[in-house]
Amino acid sequence: MIKLKGFTSNIVHHDRQLDHNDNPIHTPIYNSVPYGYKSTKDLENVFQGKTSGHSYARQATPTTDSLQSMITQTELGIGSLVFATGMGALSAIFLTLLKSGDHLIASRFLFGNSYSLITTLENFGIEVTLVDATDADNVIAAKQDNTLMVFVETIANPGTQISDLVAIGNWCEQEGLVYLVDNTMTSPYLFQPIRAKASLVMNSLSKYFCGHGTVLGGAVTDTGFFDWSTYPNIFDAYRKGEANKWGLTQIKKKALRDMGGTLSSDGAYQIAVGSETMALRMDRSCANALALAQLLETHEKVEAVYYPGLTSHPQHDKATDWFRHYGSILSFDLKDGYDCAQLLDSVDITINATHLGDNRTLALPMASTIFYEMGPENRAKSGISEQMIRCSIGIEDTDDLLESFQFGLDQL
Ligand SMILES: *Cc1c(COP(=O)(O)O)cnc(C)c1O
Repeated sequence: MIKLKGFTSNIVHHDRQLDHNDNPIHTPIYNSVPYGYKSTKDLENVFQGKTSGHSYARQATPTTDSLQSMITQTELGIGSLVFATGMGALSAIFLTLLKSGDHLIASRFLFGNSYSLITTLENFGIEVTLVDATDADNVIAAKQDNTLMVFVETIANPGTQISDLVAIGNWCEQEGLVYLVDNTMTSPYLFQPIRAKASLVMNSLSKYFCGHGTVLGGAVTDTGFFDWSTYPNIFDAYRKGEANKWGLTQIKKKALRDMGGTLSSDGAYQIAVGSETMALRMDRSCANALALAQLLETHEKVEAVYYPGLTSHPQHDKATDWFRHYGSILSFDLKDGYDCAQLLDSVDITINATHLGDNRTLALPMASTIFYEMGPENRAKSGISEQMIRCSIGIEDTDDLLESFQFGLDQL
């Protein structure tokens, strides 16, 4: 094995260290569903986990294995599983590790579909308490006797609130709780949640890993930090071998195998290729976002800017300590009387689209789209102003980005 220190060096040299025939430097796309063996004994050994190998593509292929091992390396974990989407990865975690009567503490500032997923869990008898996770004290105060897991995001969207990641991690360690961190907004390039003692890390691969908005995927990584022998919900069948693997084994068997939210080899291949430039793309998009945030913050037609790179951001100091850059999501409120749609229609560079982590700058008004269903009262409670615009900043040249926004603002 070659030894390299840098994030990108490790990604681009990952595949050639694997043992493939014909020495490809990209792991090929394996599209076979079944895997055949010369002797029955060999097949039996694979089924019984005595030798490693593939049996059926719903659980893994050499292509998805390769992506999993690359993700494990970037997150400094002990193992990863990939799924068809980020939501597939999250639902796999909740549905295999929690059961009726358990309690989950989750951040109040969650990706909309994650919030919706959690309300579905309540239908299965899982109790959920939503808290303002920017302060660990709120998480601590929500603990009940049946609490098993804490779930937060690194940087929330659209408000860019940052969870009190380190203090929550210290507390979860002390209490023996599973600490699940959705690292999608930061990616392992900006932040590795193992540094905050996370047990499990979830990434939507559809965002910064793939980067080009062409494939969906999700991953869960076990950091090795949690002692699964203390966790009550592990089935007897998986209480074998090293205890730090039990959680991931259960997610693999009960979710990937039994629920089947499998990522295709084609998708895994595209995500692996996209990941090679993750750091380069994020260096640019985060620098662009900071430059635009600074322009907007001083503009007379802008009421407020939400971006962790601004010293006015409530968690700016923590973001500076923890993250390599401040992310490429920024939101802002136009002053009352100015029309969000008019602005976006005159900013040429933005594409009117949802989604995050594309190479192109995408923007949309919040109250009339993603948060429309919520209604004005709940929007106000969730900190979504009627004048808020969310931008996912791309890798365009900085001058083009700034000039385009300046022009749009001048038209109002
Ligand atoms: C997009 C996103 C997800 C869901 O990922 P998909 O791949 O779209 O299913 C989960 N969490 C966050 C923070 C996201 O931005």
